[in-house]
Amino acid sequence: MSTYHYDVIVVGAGHAGTEAALAAARLGAKTALLTMNCDTVGQMSCNPAIGGVAKGQIVREIDALGGIMGQVIDKTGIQFRMLNVGKGPAMHSPRAQADKKAYQFEVKRIVEEQENLTLRQEIVQSLDVEDCEPQGASLRADEQCATGSASATAHQSTNPEGTGKASGTHSGSATTTKRITGITVVGDAKYIAPTVILTTGTFLQAIMHTGESKTSGGRAGEGTVRNLSHSLIDLGFELERFKTGTPARVNGRTIDFSKCQEQPGDENPQPFSYMTDAIDQPQMMCHLTATTSEVHDIIRENLHRAPMYSGQIETTGPRYCPSIEDKIVRFSGRDSHQIFLEPEGRNTLEYYLNGVSTSLPRDVQERMLRLVPGLENAEIMRFGYAVEYDFAPPTQLKVTLETKKVAGLYFAGQINGTTGYEEAGGQGLIAGLNAALAVAKKEPLILDRSQAYLGVLIDDLVTKGVDEPYRMFTSRAEYRLLLRQDNADRRLTPIGHKIGSITADRWSAHQQHEQHITAAMSIMSSTRHQGTLLDEYMRRPEVTWQTLIDLCPELAALNLPLRAAQQVEISAKYVGYIRRQEQEVAKLAKVSRVRIPETFDYAACPQLRREAQDKLSRIKPHDLGQAGRVSGITPSDLAVLMLYLKEPERLAT
Ligand code: FAD
Repeated sequence: MSTYHYDVIVVGAGHAGTEAALAAARLGAKTALLTMNCDTVGQMSCNPAIGGVAKGQIVREIDALGGIMGQVIDKTGIQFRMLNVGKGPAMHSPRAQADKKAYQFEVKRIVEEQENLTLRQEIVQSLDVEDCEPQGASLRADEQCATGSASATAHQSTNPEGTGKASGTHSGSATTTKRITGITVVGDAKYIAPTVILTTGTFLQAIMHTGESKTSGGRAGEGTVRNLSHSLIDLGFELERFKTGTPARVNGRTIDFSKCQEQPGDENPQPFSYMTDAIDQPQMMCHLTATTSEVHDIIRENLHRAPMYSGQIETTGPRYCPSIEDKIVRFSGRDSHQIFLEPEGRNTLEYYLNGVSTSLPRDVQERMLRLVPGLENAEIMRFGYAVEYDFAPPTQLKVTLETKKVAGLYFAGQINGTTGYEEAGGQGLIAGLNAALAVAKKEPLILDRSQAYLGVLIDDLVTKGVDEPYRMFTSRAEYRLLLRQDNADRRLTPIGHKIGSITADRWSAHQQHEQHITAAMSIMSSTRHQGTLLDEYMRRPEVTWQTLIDLCPELAALNLPLRAAQQVEISAKYVGYIRRQEQEVAKLAKVSRVRIPETFDYAACPQLRREAQDKLSRIKPHDLGQAGRVSGITPSDLAVLMLYLKEPERLAT
């Protein structure tokens, strides 16, 4: 049997896996990225688009921490739009249509170019673990049954920049009794490593449905993976099933665009990455059409043949991204639903029909399209389908994305019950960084809910779990005025610099950006116009950056780049609201960041309600803030818990 040795092994090269592997390698860990097929690295399974409301913010955060999603879409995007520009800055969200193949090849090229990273085609079939010292053993930290990150969650306090800061002994993840040692692949080979990240997407025991027809596979044209689910169950992990779906793709040559409405991109497209100066490539046109009441009649007549309604699929899909058959049932009063016709690339005529995801039988899909304006003669190239797959409920994870059951094993992406490239990429990045930090015996990266959508995402997953595929919304973030797409670099790039995940070029560009902002703010807070300081004057709705430039030659002389000017304008205009949210964060932080040792015995708190004891023992929150967000935990439970944390001698022994 062949054996290979690495620091970090990443299984799966989708959006989570590629960000994870690149992040780990960037931190210097010797990393292997193993995937079923090297031709599908970074493949977009569904819509060839990146970003959107709340998702665009995540892409900016990934970029600010050194991830690649933003740079890749900037290079391969075919249409860019800033959504919600009519609303306040917290709601502005970048979105871009990608050239699907170009996107995928660009991801692959970056992976291939990365130092310390080996990309290899392998099918991973099982996880290898060993037993390690159980709770209470008096081992040295580096011998404990835990990686650096696992142990770090036990006795650490997170400083406001988000990186853990040791404040006590390195106790180890004493409740974990197994440790990962590597993985076994099909073909008699083993990969040995102290950390493994699983990012297997929709591929675990996956079944695809189109009408009555069922095929095994995680994505059209690809297979499924069975053994890995069994390996996880054998290790004691719970697995559940979700489903998601995708629409048909049609040949653009057969679309009558004259019957559709044009949907152009922005005149001045804005890049996703803070490192991209401008989007230079020409943009492509998207189009809009809609279903008709005749289409709805056909769907209604054939509902009994839709796997979701015939009982063939019993699992839950994303409520906010319903299939067309689901829309017809749920919104029965509507006689039309929009269909966006989105090109899949510059060198193909294939079009994605955004809005009509379906798993109805082939003949029904064809008959439906015959009745849609512009699609009367559309030739289907790929039929729509739904896919059911295993996922691992994410309450089995710590905030580092390491599993509670097996030290050194991390999960990221759709395997955690999420949906979407951005959510997957973000988790991959954090898991990759934490695995590499653990190998280097450094503190983990834990982002707070007030620091990043990524903090909100991970906290929601590990604290509340999921009852449907989880996607990010701005409404999930309580501090969304702080978590804007325009300031992700200001929030996160200093953290990336501290842990070593960003390049020197990015750091120096960031410092220059900050200098520009400081210089402008300082002039504005000391220069008056008609008796009013310029920063106060800027709060008037009719006043813009341009107004100030016209009034103040000193400001004009700064010649501020657009991005810095936008930052100054937003900071000055919303200063009151921003300060209020910052004060709220600071007030809550005092209590909520009180750490709870991982070994804390809730059952030994007689005054804690039984239900609270059970829930907290299962979730193992890492601080009081997280404990308070566990469903069913009341303020009085927290008060009791606080008492025991302050006076541990009260615990029953
Ligand atoms: P994936 O992108 O699925 O990547 C998983 C990777 O793991 C693949 O490279 C695979 O080859 C590899 N792999 C799996 N098992 C093994 C193994 N044992 N050994 C080696 N390699 C392995 N998202 C939305 O936001 N909206 C939608 O409407 C939507 N619809 C979807 C419809 C379909 C049919 C599918 C398949 C997905 C859809 N998605 C949708 C989800 C989106 O594609 C995923 O959220 C995203 O791709 C998840 O990224 P990931 O990295 O977790 O997994």
